[in-house]
Amino acid sequence: MSITREETRYGKCPFCECQTTKNDRINADHVAIWCIECGATMEIPQGRMSYIEAINVLYDKWYCRPIEKSLQARIAELEKPAIEWHKYPDEKPINGGFYATYDGADVEAHFWRGGGEYWADMCSTEDDIAISEVTNITHWAYLPAPPKEESCKS
Ligand SMILES: [Zn+2]
Repeated sequence: MSITREETRYGKCPFCECQTTKNDRINADHVAIWCIECGATMEIPQGRMSYIEAINVLYDKWYCRPIEKSLQARIAELEKPAIEWHKYPDEKPINGGFYATYDGADVEAHFWRGGGEYWADMCSTEDDIAISEVTNITHWAYLPAPPKEESCKS
């Protein structure tokens, strides 16, 4: 004998958002929830709880998965673009130094002359550094951080 009923307490399966979750007693002393659509399943021992009490405890677990929330936050963080472009001259770098630049065609690195506020191309010759102004920059971005040394090598 089995008592399978439509889950209507919350409505949707938290994994696939369908409406086909079922619950039932399994193995004499466990209660389970599962989703017919995506196959997600969760079970707990019924213990001294009534079937309804156990199912309510299980539904709380089914719908509250803190690890999932932190994973979603981490995924959103990782999906952010690694490079954030700033429109020039609307936004200018605060400090002088090298930045990734874009001129409508190519991504390059140029030096931002903080004091004079212009983009510079720097070419080193044998005994000097030639600096020429670059005027066609449309966007700039911070250069990425240097690579990290691998700390655990086996
Ligand atoms: Zn599902």
